[in-house]
Amino acid sequence: MVERLRGSAGVAQRRRRLARTHGLCEMCLAAGRPEIATVVDHIVPLALGGSDEDSNTRNLCGAHHLEVTAEQFGHRAPIKARGVSRSGRPTAPDHPWNQRRD
Ligand SMILES: [Zn+2]
Repeated sequence: MVERLRGSAGVAQRRRRLARTHGLCEMCLAAGRPEIATVVDHIVPLALGGSDEDSNTRNLCGAHHLEVTAEQFGHRAPIKARGVSRSGRPTAPDHPWNQRRD
């Protein structure tokens, strides 16, 4: 499992990757539509052994990200989009169930 960069290094990496398409969704651009990219997606997901290198990433809008994630992970994306994980836990970090009690 590849560790993602966190903190300011992760922010700089994300900004650099988004700049490659001037902050626009690659799949929308391919269809001739300029749409703001909101997600730097891993083409081969990290969870499936993909690398965290620029060549394994692409810039997507929210709709395209949901679409490709649904293809890669079955029904996980639509469930996640409702704010609940596969096990039924809320995904929001500020939900009371996700608060640490230490
Ligand atoms: Zn798009």
